Amino acid sequence: TFKAILVSRDAEKKQSVEIVDLTEAELMEGDVTVAVEATTVNYKDGLAITGKAPVVRRWPLVPGIDFAGTVISSSHADWRKGDKVILNGWGVGETHYGAYAGRARVKGDWLVPLPESMSPHDAMAVGTAGYTAMLAVMALERHGIVPDRGPVVVTGAAGGVGSVAISILSTLGYHVIASTGRSAESPYLIDLGAAEVISREELSQPAKPLAKERWAGGVDSVGTHTLANVLSMTSYGGAVAACGLAGGMDLPTSVAPFILRGVSLLGIDSVMAPKPVRLEAWRRIGADLDLKKLSTLSRSIGFDGIIDAARDIIHGKIRGRVVVDM
Ligand code: NAP
Repeated sequence: TFKAILVSRDAEKKQSVEIVDLTEAELMEGDVTVAVEATTVNYKDGLAITGKAPVVRRWPLVPGIDFAGTVISSSHADWRKGDKVILNGWGVGETHYGAYAGRARVKGDWLVPLPESMSPHDAMAVGTAGYTAMLAVMALERHGIVPDRGPVVVTGAAGGVGSVAISILSTLGYHVIASTGRSAESPYLIDLGAAEVISREELSQPAKPLAKERWAGGVDSVGTHTLANVLSMTSYGGAVAACGLAGGMDLPTSVAPFILRGVSLLGIDSVMAPKPVRLEAWRRIGADLDLKKLSTLSRSIGFDGIIDAARDIIHGKIRGRVVVDM
């Protein structure tokens, strides 16, 4: 048997969470079984464990949307016992038993190889948040937002997506403007590579259709008025990658940035991203993310700390990334 976190709900749809013992026979269908060596706590995992938003769509469920570990058994042509693998998304931790267990059984098509330069712990210090940050950077690059075009703003800067985005962008030579609601985290953000730190309040009021041009691009984890302000302050021909909804799901904006400044809004989804995109994102993470910065932006907890960390992330109390060493 192995330990697992299980979320359940009763006849009144009241959600509860407990730690249980599971056996491999109780895992869901799949052609690869993995010993989970490291996982992490993402915002979405916080939503799943607290029940704050309907992330869980199968009851009961083992939550946890990403893991890194070693293949124990496989009937999939690409994977053999002993292979080191990463999983992000594909509904794992939403509709399929997830990472918060000693073992996971998944579809081999969902897995990507662990980059050789990284340990399972490193990969989960990146996690889905960091892999999403890389997808956002790749989207900006595809749109021609190179460092010479001007500054790039990162909102929700001290969170997981934000912290990794700052590290990657600064390593690539961008002038990064970090927006945070936690001014005490300024030294941390500068350490990660931010050139400037601005206050969350500057971007959280209702946006004007167009405001003074301040940046060529952005990586936004917050949504709502924040994303609207980021768009209205993006310079001519710029682009903003929308990654998250930590502030809210709405987008109270106008078409002005799009039709008067040719600004583009780039949608980022990590969950169903096709395999070639994932392989490229993880290759780039292996190449462009400074492992020293990765240790600055992450801290470790054990399996027993997952539930508390899930509550903390929903309250915006987690800095950077939390790695769970199993
Ligand atoms: P996180 O670590 O909690 O980071 C979110 C950050 O947003 C917080 O640290 C905080 O940063 C800021 N924030 C929180 N509440 C806010 C509020 N009410 N108003 C303004 N700012 C607020 O979470 P994460 O794991 O980085 O995820 C960030 C977002 O991206 C989440 O919405 C998540 O669901 C989404 N996401 C999407 C994908 C995808 O595939 N598109 C993948 C991963 C994550 P400061 O304290 O620095 O202000």
